[in-house]
Amino acid sequence: MAEISVKFPDGKVQAFAEGTTPADVAQSISISLAKKAVAAKYNGELVDYLTPLKGDGDIEIVTKSDEDGLTVLRNTTAALLRIALKKEFPAIRLGEVSADKDGFYVDTDKDDQQVSVDELDALAVVIEKLAKDKLDIQRISLSKADALAAVKGDQFSTELINALDGDSVPFLQIGDYQVLSDGAQLPTTKDVKQFKLLSVAGAYWQGKSSNPMLQRIYGTAFYKEADLKADLEKRQEARERDHRVIGNQLDLFFVDPKVGAGLPYWMPNGATIRRTIERYIIDKEVANGYQHVYTPVLANLDLYKQSGHWAHYREDMFPPMDMGDGEMLELRPMNCPSHIQIYNHHIRSYRELPLRIAELGMMHRYEKSGALSGLQRVREMTLNDGHTFVAPDQIQDEFKRILKLMVQVYADFDINDYTFRLSYRDPKNTEKYFDDDEMWNKAQTMLKGAMDDLGLDYVEAEGEAAFYGPKLDVQTKTALGNEETLSTIQLDFMLPERFDLHYVGADGEEHRPVMIHRGLVSTMERFTAYLTEIYKGAFPTWLAPKQVTIIPVSEEKHGAYADKLAAEMKAADIRVNVDKRGEKMGYLIRDAQTHKIPYTLVVGEQEVANHSVSVRKYGEDDATSMSSDAFMKEILADIASYSRE
Ligand code: ATP
Ligand code: ZN
Repeated sequence: MAEISVKFPDGKVQAFAEGTTPADVAQSISISLAKKAVAAKYNGELVDYLTPLKGDGDIEIVTKSDEDGLTVLRNTTAALLRIALKKEFPAIRLGEVSADKDGFYVDTDKDDQQVSVDELDALAVVIEKLAKDKLDIQRISLSKADALAAVKGDQFSTELINALDGDSVPFLQIGDYQVLSDGAQLPTTKDVKQFKLLSVAGAYWQGKSSNPMLQRIYGTAFYKEADLKADLEKRQEARERDHRVIGNQLDLFFVDPKVGAGLPYWMPNGATIRRTIERYIIDKEVANGYQHVYTPVLANLDLYKQSGHWAHYREDMFPPMDMGDGEMLELRPMNCPSHIQIYNHHIRSYRELPLRIAELGMMHRYEKSGALSGLQRVREMTLNDGHTFVAPDQIQDEFKRILKLMVQVYADFDINDYTFRLSYRDPKNTEKYFDDDEMWNKAQTMLKGAMDDLGLDYVEAEGEAAFYGPKLDVQTKTALGNEETLSTIQLDFMLPERFDLHYVGADGEEHRPVMIHRGLVSTMERFTAYLTEIYKGAFPTWLAPKQVTIIPVSEEKHGAYADKLAAEMKAADIRVNVDKRGEKMGYLIRDAQTHKIPYTLVVGEQEVANHSVSVRKYGEDDATSMSSDAFMKEILADIASYSRE
């Protein structure tokens, strides 16, 4: 009988009869392993527990406690959701299905009305029943003609089947039901117990915005009840932190795809936060030797041809505007060429270096619609941008100086959870990266050397560099757990060449400067999203859109006193309002807490008489009484306290 040769992770090789399944292999190792096992990885691919292994290969048995084990459970849960959807809504069409370490989803489309979140419980009941019946899951294969007949009337499944090579289409037989298969499956439905259908959201068919919008049903599944519970709590926590949710609650911003996807509108509250950040950052940079400028968002396309953006970055750029008179104008995707114009406007001397140009520079990038997310990834953004022009022997010092400033700024915003990533080019990708081996090697070594000198930990990432040079990225995590770049420092030997930049050296000769691009706190959009998430909307007093709300017990009797206090505070630049809605006191206090206002002051008879206030800080249950002067001192000290210099 023919045999297959199976190699184990420890290097041992064993022959098995053809037709051997992962279950047979697991059993040959130990009964206890076979009990926990749910699938295998064969030659790197996740395969069913009970389907015979094909050909020779490397095997890893996958158990319930592995991440891949969860994927298998979720594949099966998604298959049961497909059956449940067909049972509940016979005419429903089913699109893509996916399962991974974060959960699973099934794309659906219904004629009348899409599946709503209220219908998820009923679907879950159907899945529970299928699980209780402990149905065997068998992999079958249908001919293309039979498969197409089985999904007749469903244009999405039809497309998925037609996209497959060959004439055999993988299906699953689960009890009496046949469903198109996706991914490795459990042997039976009985392990599908701890699952949850989470939410629904629109998703374009195959991710393309020109395709119809389907309804994506999200869910997750675990083997253990405690794991599901912990995951649901984590999701709840993420929702509470999600800047899009908080942005809505606190009326910070909105994005309306009808007006423009990825083009945010900053409401007064969000604008106040942004203005405070902008003022802070400009003051900080000016104090650190930067010269702030304003430059236009539009420029002649030739500028971006000269810079190389048009050749290397075009897919992220908006199409140029043909002005009809031969001129092509382009919305800038980066501010660097603009700052180069500022540098080049005068003859520069070595005495001016490092020359630091900074701007809150607005730029536009044509991000894919599926990647857009609240303020975190947008199409119009304002970068806290800066370019320093240095002599080659100043690079390391300037790099360290920028890093020091960045760390100071982080401390002021109380940002502690971040990691450094040195991003290098992928030397094989000569299309994406500017082709100059010497420049890349020199620059990458220089950055690494500076990080090592400073004794900072970092990871190295090939293929993450900008097209013109290597960079240091500061990586943080969003509420949803995605890693994102917040700050960046990038070396550039290329643009100074392309724009033929020089300075006059001490020797009276012309020399080529090096450019360092740096964004301290990213774009105003991404930074505000990030801060909203780390603070959970409870902004520190200096950033809070409203810092104080004063509630008079009776407007008639105490309103004048409240107004007088508010006027004093306004004169001291404190953001204060008097709540005169006249609702019940308990409601007004709760409302101030919901809006995460740092200080709520209640003033009644006693306060008027003593010229005092009753102060409740955000998140505290009790109020304290103090003189209005003492309160002023306290809040002013609080506002000033962010700066740790
Ligand atoms: P990413 O990898 O996040 O797309 P990038 O490497 O293309 O960013 P840079 O050209 O270095 O970005 O831009 C500077 C900074 O601007 C980034 O570090 C990031 O914090 C921020 N940023 C980039 N793209 C966006 C966007 N679409 N929306 C909001 N902020 C952005
Ligand atoms: Zn730049």
